[in-house]
Amino acid sequence: MFSSKSTDFLKPYFLSNKVPYLDIYHFHYGRPPENALMGNVIASRVGHADDERVRRAGASGGVMTAVLLHLLETGRIDGAVVARQDVPASPSAAAVIATTRGEIMAAAQSVYVPVSILERLPDLEPGKNYAMTALPEEAILLRQLQRDRYAPALQIKWLLGPYTGTALKPGAIRCLLRASGVRDSDVIKSLKWRAGEWPGYLEIVMASGKVVRSKKVYYNFLIPFFITRGSLFSMDFTNEFCDLAVGDAWSPVFERLGGGHSVVLTRGVEMEKIILEMRAAGKLRLEDIELSRASEMHGHMLDFKKRGGYIRSRVLRRLGFAAPDYGVRPVPLPLSRWLVEAVVSSLFLCCGNRVARKFLEFVPEAVIGPVFNRLRLAWKAFSKPTKRKGLANLRMIAESGLDAGKNP
Ligand SMILES: Cc1cc2nc3c(=O)[nH]c(=O)nc-3n(C[C@H](O)[C@H](O)[C@H](O)COP(=O)(O)OP(=O)(O)OC[C@H]3O[C@@H](n4cnc5c(N)ncnc54)[C@H](O)[C@@H]3O)c2cc1C
Repeated sequence: MFSSKSTDFLKPYFLSNKVPYLDIYHFHYGRPPENALMGNVIASRVGHADDERVRRAGASGGVMTAVLLHLLETGRIDGAVVARQDVPASPSAAAVIATTRGEIMAAAQSVYVPVSILERLPDLEPGKNYAMTALPEEAILLRQLQRDRYAPALQIKWLLGPYTGTALKPGAIRCLLRASGVRDSDVIKSLKWRAGEWPGYLEIVMASGKVVRSKKVYYNFLIPFFITRGSLFSMDFTNEFCDLAVGDAWSPVFERLGGGHSVVLTRGVEMEKIILEMRAAGKLRLEDIELSRASEMHGHMLDFKKRGGYIRSRVLRRLGFAAPDYGVRPVPLPLSRWLVEAVVSSLFLCCGNRVARKFLEFVPEAVIGPVFNRLRLAWKAFSKPTKRKGLANLRMIAESGLDAGKNP
């Protein structure tokens, strides 16, 4: 499942901490983002796949899987580079090149541990066309590879990506298993992050027959202990370099309705045509919404990335450590937001070490899950006025002083 070919082509991009955010915006869209929070957007919608099997298989509304299937079945692609958690059965995940309907369906769902999607590029068959799913850090890297005319990157004709809040280090899985009384010698048979009814639960089936389940809102307690570096320092929540970006449509109305609902942004002209074609053919049930309504669904995470990501990277760089530099800064950034960040980052600092993680193995999920969820909601309510202050009018200023995207 893993590529045996060299990944040297990625090295030059990893050597620099500079993320050429504005350059790539100019290369790919011909201009900086029109909306500093959401990026360049042609249309924003909410909805789900019409096929109930696809919708249920997906993480939210099955939209990404439905689009990949449509691209394959209409001959626009020969395959799709996607992520699968349970192949091989371990806490890690793998990138796979899916060339059949069954393989695309098997890769539905979110994978919350890192997946080296781009490492599969050398395995693409020359002359064939592909789609790819990628997190924001890989999406911008793919656009850089395309700018630099790396041949396999040019075979990716369609780039789809999830909104990306937080990903976890694979160690989170073993920690949860130990806390659930599962022996280290027991092998993971299957692992689904979003099993069952939306928003779903983590389900791990062990070779011994033991099944560990944790509601999505409960296993969030793993985040401060196992959050990845990429999640902490990224300033891109809505996957701004993908032709199609999809997230959970968090709203009391959709959460009451259940069944799985996605918020869907098109950024590429050709992708917009595909979405309209699929809607007309009854393959997608999508309703247009204002972009401001779409951004309200994720105010907390947008702030976490756009302002929190900036503060965290800047502080680390000032302290002499390596951290990504996007070359832009968010405005406004009041003192109160720096203070809120001091609390958030202290939590990550206290929890993200070996001692804290070891301690976590002794606390049952049934105890820490609900307690953490209550604390999280209380903190969210307490910090909301500060985190939302000025967010609706957020602008990104290039370090050169130019306006790099406002929020009209
Ligand atoms: C790490 C991570 C964090 C996220 N955080 C948020 C959040 O904070 N808020 C929010 O609203 N939504 C978040 N999402 C997105 C959400 O979980 C769904 O992925 C999204 O709504 C699309 O749902 P869907 O049903 O259309 O996708 P599906 O039909 O389930 O298709 C998803 C496709 O993406 C691929 N994929 C899954 N994980 C990865 C990965 N890690 N790398 C590359 N490809 C992948 C799958 O192989 C599949 O082809 C996150 C997703 C991930 C992976």
